Amino acid sequence: MENPTENKPVEKERKSIKVWSENLQRFYYKSKDPNYYNDYFHKTKRPMTCGICGKTITCQMYSHLKSKKCIMKKQEMEIEHLRKQLEQLNITE
Ligand SMILES: [Zn+2]
Repeated sequence: MENPTENKPVEKERKSIKVWSENLQRFYYKSKDPNYYNDYFHKTKRPMTCGICGKTITCQMYSHLKSKKCIMKKQEMEIEHLRKQLEQLNITE
């Protein structure tokens, strides 16, 4: 007995689906893989350097800026800045 579906060419499974975007007024391809965008995020993620404490951040900058270490460093810098201003005032007096 012959299977009629056996010789049928296998349809290539698409990795993305065509989606109409109302905002863009055009079609775009959306990945079917729900992890695609997470993977993309991790692939493009680069360690950043914190502008306040100079630490290299691999996590989110937003949460780092709220960390005790960074806040303390920020306060230290503010104190240092005020100290320098006081020094300058003493010189000009
Ligand atoms: Zn920091």
